[in-house]
Amino acid sequence: MPQPTRIALAWLAAAGLSVPAFAAGDDGLHERLLTLDTHLDTPMHFPRAGWSFGERHTLAEDLVQVDLPRMESGALDGGFFVIYTEQGPLTDEGYEHALAFARERSDVIDETLAAFPERIAPALTAADARAIAASGRIFAFKSLENSYPLGEDPGLLAEFHRRGVRMAGPVHSANNQFADSATDEPRWNGLSPLGREWVADMNRLGMVIDASHASDAAFDQLLELSETPILLSHSGARAAFDHPRNLDDERIRRLAESGGAICVTSVFLSPMNLGEERAALFARLERIGELSPAEQEELTRRWRELDRRERLWDAGFDQYMAMLLHVIEVAGVDHVCFGADWDGGGGIAGLEDITDLPKITARLHAAGYSEADLGKMWSGNVLRILEAAERHAARSPAGGTPGAD
Ligand SMILES: [Zn+2]
Repeated sequence: MPQPTRIALAWLAAAGLSVPAFAAGDDGLHERLLTLDTHLDTPMHFPRAGWSFGERHTLAEDLVQVDLPRMESGALDGGFFVIYTEQGPLTDEGYEHALAFARERSDVIDETLAAFPERIAPALTAADARAIAASGRIFAFKSLENSYPLGEDPGLLAEFHRRGVRMAGPVHSANNQFADSATDEPRWNGLSPLGREWVADMNRLGMVIDASHASDAAFDQLLELSETPILLSHSGARAAFDHPRNLDDERIRRLAESGGAICVTSVFLSPMNLGEERAALFARLERIGELSPAEQEELTRRWRELDRRERLWDAGFDQYMAMLLHVIEVAGVDHVCFGADWDGGGGIAGLEDITDLPKITARLHAAGYSEADLGKMWSGNVLRILEAAERHAARSPAGGTPGAD
């Protein structure tokens, strides 16, 4: 992984951007809001032996940041559960492996949700999410991080749509057959010809395009080609930390003008401390579903031990809030959402797991944002973008999302 370059941020210290003090007494404001996160990597933990999504866990115990009891506490009403596939070789064999992996991950998500029908339900449309939340349950969308498993057949998107996937990104941390990655050298100068077909298929099916991890040029082309607004499921502002995974202000403005949204992440607020030891632990964490309970415990112990010497990110909650306030200022409240990258490398000091989410609401409220503003940012903007995709699909000749009008 390329190392980020650091720029000094005079504005961070500027008095005008200092973060207001913690607001006291919000009368259950966060709990009243419909809240969603657009990038939950928690499915990585679903296959773990001796572990259940339905039980309460702590980061200290088993490295998990999201589970049903913590969601049910009022912290988070739902979100997009990610089918993440690691980038491999662009060969028939590579594609075949990746497709098998993504199908299995999709099945594991379905099985996990099906085990708790009284507590969580799959959502296919924005209306589903609202209805499920109104019934007192958590709602779960599915998304695809990295379209690599589709091989050279964007038609496979239809299969994942049938499997319930409603958002997908073309690329992850290395270039693939569809697009250039933000963290690789340009190969296609944006999207490949296949990537352009992918955009048309996404629109036709009514799936939301996720531009996180795409290169600047790929972002520009996704924005230009997509017939419905796009979003970034877990990205930040380059003004806060100069890293290619983050977006510059000019692009954030264009995204907002086109009706899209940027879901603010907790990663790349600072350089990533990815030394040899952390990298090895990370590789093991990505395969935690294959480890025995004793091996999981050992990994947790070693991860926490390293945390005491060096955390993955040096950033803290105030830096996160400064970034978030900057994004809101540039994009406007109609074009901001949340995707902290929980269970995918996200989480910083002071924002350790989803139980810390009410702190964000309290800070934003103290900074003058109304309950209506917060409602848009916490779910309204994402559901609006999803609805736009649904309407477009309903008008497309061979498209159509069941349940969309
Ligand atoms: Zn990611």
